[in-house]
Amino acid sequence: MKVHEYQARQILAEAGAPVPAGEVIESASDAARAYTDAVTNAGLGEGGLAVVKAQVHAGGRGKAGFVKLVKSAGEATEAAEFMLSNKMVSYQTGAEGLDVTKLLVAAGVDIAKEYYLAITTDRATRRNVMIASAEGGVEIEQVAKDNPDAILKEPIHPLMGLQPHQARRLAFKLGFTGKQVGQAVKVMLALSTSYHRHDCSLAEINPLVVTPPTDTHPDGEVLAIDAKFNFDDNALFRQKKVAAMFDAAEENPAELRAKEHDLSYIALDGNIGCLVNGAGLAMATMDIVKHHGGEPANFLDVGGSATKEAVTEAFRIILSDEAVKGVMVNIFGGIMRCDVIADAIVAAAKEVGFKVPLVVRLEGTNVEAGRAILEGAKGDIPTMQAATDLGDAAQKVVAAVNG
Ligand code: GDP
Ligand code: MN
Repeated sequence: MKVHEYQARQILAEAGAPVPAGEVIESASDAARAYTDAVTNAGLGEGGLAVVKAQVHAGGRGKAGFVKLVKSAGEATEAAEFMLSNKMVSYQTGAEGLDVTKLLVAAGVDIAKEYYLAITTDRATRRNVMIASAEGGVEIEQVAKDNPDAILKEPIHPLMGLQPHQARRLAFKLGFTGKQVGQAVKVMLALSTSYHRHDCSLAEINPLVVTPPTDTHPDGEVLAIDAKFNFDDNALFRQKKVAAMFDAAEENPAELRAKEHDLSYIALDGNIGCLVNGAGLAMATMDIVKHHGGEPANFLDVGGSATKEAVTEAFRIILSDEAVKGVMVNIFGGIMRCDVIADAIVAAAKEVGFKVPLVVRLEGTNVEAGRAILEGAKGDIPTMQAATDLGDAAQKVVAAVNG
């Protein structure tokens, strides 16, 4: 599960990391007041620096024009109007982009230098690892490619967690000096605490910044000005506070409906809807559809214990995708019974109707009962064809769609 930046900032701040205060708004008419509040609370006053940031579950906002520095209520309003009325397109969103409905208006900071700091799981060492770089702000993937030596890693002991001496070592290697060292260590420990406390799969601060020296802070201040947290879905049952941060508006609606019925569904770009049981068989089905010249419209694993209702919902989801020009059902009944699938096909046919070609391949548990159900419903589902095996099914559906 993902959360918005403003929620991630809140989690970080609770763990003791210094994060500039901000407010979330959903209307451009609130931007002027939010600007004034942000700069006033930061002790800056009118004319002070603030930042308006689109809250979407994707990065690359800066380059896309969806992170704007503003110095007046008017500029804040203008930035808000732009972000709320345009789709954000970045290297992380795909060409269709994302709608923006929430904005964070936060106190802005002057930046002397940007750093990268994150924790994720390193499968090779079977440890969580802190990753840090003095080349922050930019895409870390690019740094990893062009200058891998600029990325530092510190493995985290599963029981003891990130140790202060590890954080200090990292801070020195990153080039922090004077009072910055202690502040950077504090942020690192806060990130580590947040990661463990909330069962994260990724916790990232990019950029972590140092502000220029001032009279009150001669070494500058180390601050987190962007945060991204992903959480392990399997732990959400014990992370009620995190689960409550879920924003359905950020999810693909079809994938959301599927999730509610415990179906593993991922929308794809093709036109052949696939309904399969078992993740491995679903992958093989997509491969064979492609092998015969077709393009799958989705990945869908109904699982072993799906009910007739869940499978019917799966058909509803597939058939509600207008790109779908044909449907292929490939069931190898083990725990899943072929008659349950057949019942669901009949129910879906009654309810939504198969206007597109449907090719069904059933094998395994209760296959005779399943075939009998479909045979009996033939008149109601004129677009249905039976297939003898996986290859036959793929060829038939591709031919039906392309023919
Ligand atoms: P992202 O592009 O989606 O990762 O959004 P970020 O929050 O990381 O912002 C992108 C960039 O905008 C940062 O790397 C900074 O260079 C700049 N930026 C963001 N907030 C501030 C701020 O308060 N002050 C200044 N000077 N720059 C900022
Ligand atoms: Mn960022």
